Amino acid sequence: MNRPARRFPLSLDRVTAAAASPSSAARPVVRPQRPVREAAHDAARTTRPVGQGLDSEAVRARMLDRLRAEGVDAPPVLAAMGRVPRDRFVDTAFVAQAYEDTSLPIGWEQTISKPIVVARMLALLTAGTGVRHRPIRTPLGRALEIGTGCGYQAAVLAQLASRVTSIERIGPLLDKARLNLAAVGCTDIRLVHGDGRLGHAPNAPYDSIVAAAGGESVPEAWLEQLAPGGRLVAPMHDEDADGQVLVVIDRTPDGLVRSLHDAVHFVPLKSGRL
Ligand code: SAH
Repeated sequence: MNRPARRFPLSLDRVTAAAASPSSAARPVVRPQRPVREAAHDAARTTRPVGQGLDSEAVRARMLDRLRAEGVDAPPVLAAMGRVPRDRFVDTAFVAQAYEDTSLPIGWEQTISKPIVVARMLALLTAGTGVRHRPIRTPLGRALEIGTGCGYQAAVLAQLASRVTSIERIGPLLDKARLNLAAVGCTDIRLVHGDGRLGHAPNAPYDSIVAAAGGESVPEAWLEQLAPGGRLVAPMHDEDADGQVLVVIDRTPDGLVRSLHDAVHFVPLKSGRL
């Protein structure tokens, strides 16, 4: 087991030229076809300040500057986060804080992850592209997310993957995510109501697996559903660190290769579904 020092900035694997190239980088959020009047209304909404005097695009650009300053060096991930309006995924009461580096409540005792945490997890996931043994068309290929929450990270994943499956165990939260994702035009994500510890076999294998909730160990199903050359990133309890750390697991021709990264604090990975 490889155990690098856990400090910022992370020494991420090199992001390959292919992953960083404009052609394979993040795709724009595609809005479904709408009647012209509605489309014009939408366009007006996106150019007006959102919520409490927040100019979404400018504030998002500042968020990206902060992420870069904190050592995130993954152009495809930053481009993807620059495209997704995070303010549309938080409750009205928290819109003013949508771009601050803080986690926020999303109901049912769950939280939307901090931007820096989403950025670091996805940077680790895309950094794997360079060491993978099977070429994939987009930085993340076929992706699985465990813990949809409000849908924010799923929307970012959709910019980086050829297909996204996202599982949430809390039914009403998944409904909320579906509405949030539809509102930003992300309608091609497979949302699954279920226990993510079992993964989602019907869409397996996955080139990329990312978990937004942490447990004691990596469930066997995730490893079984990880494609050859695939990479998994998940928060897991680590005895030595006496807390959660980000675990990266690569399926290489020589077997599974595991490394430990940042100390983190995610909500627990629970069993069953509500
Ligand atoms: N991806 C979200 C983060 C959500 S918080 C974002 O972008 O902000 C983590 C989520 O994991 C919670 O909604 C919680 O209900 C969910 N979760 C916890 N255990 C789970 C499990 N076994 N299967 C699926 N979802 C789970």
